[in-house]
Amino acid sequence: MEEIAERIRICKKCRLYEFRTNPVPGEGDPCTDIVFVGEAPGRNEDLQGRPFVGAAGKLLTKLLESNGMFREKVFITNIVKCRPPQNRDPRDDEVRACFGYLVEQLNVIRPKIIVMLGRHSARHLLRYFGIRVDSIMSIRGRVFRANSRWGEVILFPTLHPAAALYNPKLRDLLEKDFKEISRLAKLGDTKIGLDRFFT
Ligand code: URA
Ligand code: SF4
Repeated sequence: MEEIAERIRICKKCRLYEFRTNPVPGEGDPCTDIVFVGEAPGRNEDLQGRPFVGAAGKLLTKLLESNGMFREKVFITNIVKCRPPQNRDPRDDEVRACFGYLVEQLNVIRPKIIVMLGRHSARHLLRYFGIRVDSIMSIRGRVFRANSRWGEVILFPTLHPAAALYNPKLRDLLEKDFKEISRLAKLGDTKIGLDRFFT
């Protein structure tokens, strides 16, 4: 995992390298069974080189902890590893250039659950696993299953925490989804051995 991060830190495969302060490879436990994938680093992430450390990150951390999970016990990363200027959406060519790093990370972790935070993450990851979708609102909170190189994986799309920061309705939905993520993980206590990330 560290070797992948080292390559990301010197990567110039797309133009986003010109704008970054620090690349943000991701962080957490490479032996976890659950991975959270956001869209792209924002300002705070770019400054610190760590994922989800701003306001959206605080909400993510809170949602994890209130559902019995801890940041250090899961893995958190993004679809693209460098911050797009003015936080614009990453372009398709940038996603294409960067996506291989995420695939490498997933192949090391071999997670049982991949949580996709927001529509960009959901769109690109579901497409990678051969599932076509339109709107995030129609698929959020649903469990998709796909075959990966390491076995069956649960794909769980939910909202991006940033979208829920100032919108109580979306916040309720996000909280509901995190309860479901926790439930799926706990099911694993007996069925698929997901207990490792519960302390
Ligand atoms: N939003 C994201 O999608 N990723 C981060 O790392 C921070 C905010
Ligand atoms: Fe490389 Fe990804 Fe950064 Fe582009 S966004 S420079 S592909 S690490």
